[in-house]
Amino acid sequence: MLLTDPSSENQVRSLPIVVQKYGGSSVADVAKLGRVADRVVATRRAGNDVVVVVSAMGKTTDELLRVAADVGAAGGGLDFEPPRRELDMLVSTGERVTMALLSIAIQARGHKAISFTGSQCGIITNDRHFDARIIEVRPHRIEDEIARGHIVIVAGYQGMSYRREITTLGRGGSDTTAVALAAALRAERCEIYSDVDGVYSADPRAVPSAQHLPEVDYGTLQTMAESGAKVLCAQAVEWARRAGIAIYARSTFDPVVAEPRQTLVRQLEPSSQQPRARAVVADTKIVLARLRDDPAQPALPMVLDMLSTAGVTIRELSTEGADTTMVLSVLNAPQWGATRTELGRKVPAFQLVPAVALVSLCGGGLTDDPSGLREFCRLLEELGAPAQLLVASPLRFAAVIAQQHAVAAQQRLHEAFVAER
Ligand code: ADP
Ligand code: ASP
Ligand code: MG
Repeated sequence: MLLTDPSSENQVRSLPIVVQKYGGSSVADVAKLGRVADRVVATRRAGNDVVVVVSAMGKTTDELLRVAADVGAAGGGLDFEPPRRELDMLVSTGERVTMALLSIAIQARGHKAISFTGSQCGIITNDRHFDARIIEVRPHRIEDEIARGHIVIVAGYQGMSYRREITTLGRGGSDTTAVALAAALRAERCEIYSDVDGVYSADPRAVPSAQHLPEVDYGTLQTMAESGAKVLCAQAVEWARRAGIAIYARSTFDPVVAEPRQTLVRQLEPSSQQPRARAVVADTKIVLARLRDDPAQPALPMVLDMLSTAGVTIRELSTEGADTTMVLSVLNAPQWGATRTELGRKVPAFQLVPAVALVSLCGGGLTDDPSGLREFCRLLEELGAPAQLLVASPLRFAAVIAQQHAVAAQQRLHEAFVAER
């Protein structure tokens, strides 16, 4: 909003813009939505223009996907894959419900507010349904409404492709909406609120002794997010890093105070980043696959095409001679079951190892001394969870292990490599 500055007659000044994002657990029911409205109003009263990005309420996205699968199975059998375009039309409604309800809640508290979908906010994406990437943000309508003194509520996780189709940004994508808008609006701050008061050295649900990190470098958090840490979406961290947007990760459920417990995500000085292990991450939305190809009739190109159509992404892939090993993420492949069946039918040499998890140790300079990797493998073996695939780079050690040992492995690796004594 533009204000006349009493200290200089002709000049106008604008309020700082704060972008706040509230995740599904923060807006799970009417009472929580009301608390979010109070928090937004308090930020407004503190002298800021506020743009709020919301996720779908609670587990709404999962529930909508389950209904889509049921409807598909009822008509076309278990192998029917609902088209990803229609899934986007469906799941984008989840955030739309929250945006309208939050706008109502804020207006009921006597403040001007207006809600917008991603496409109304000018979030332009590529045309990859269910896992689209933002190409450009044209936030003119948001700017106009801010100038009119409105609090603007935005449906996260969605945009519009250059073909004018509704798209969604991949699971957890409301974080990306928030960071992209903060960059486009040149916001003062981007605050991401969830059920945890920042980034920890491991998922506190799996590792109760995980340590709170008051500050974390973009690079470390990006490695963690790309390894499957759910706390912030990897695309959001990448966008923040490129645009130089500082992220303040906080808990919705903490009281509103001047200096809340939080994690500040920003570029840290190299001198403050001694080479060492910083965090442990586990991802269970992965698949280990092996392909022994026939050089006369290679199947790899067809396999990659099928994975692409299904929305499967590659975490690791290595080929030696006719043998290819892959770690695949099925986070944004809602119909992976049907694709797996079709792959099994068309490419019998494509073998899947069931029930695995990828456990990663993230940090810097990890390969400087190979004894660290030796210890990493030894600890997993001791747990009865030997690495079925091992990847090592300076930023990360990662092992595919049996899923049943994922929690114990996180705890043991955290204790051995990360915990401060
Ligand atoms: P939201 O719905 O608000 O986007 P998410 O469920 O996506 O929230 O992310 C928050 C969750 O991320 C936490 O409840 C926590 O269990 C999990 N998490 C995983 N790894 C970490 C970590 N390293 N630090 C903090 N939380 C983590
Ligand atoms: N509602 C979407 C999801 O569950 C997006 C998000 O929460 O960020 O993945
Ligand atoms: Mg999230």
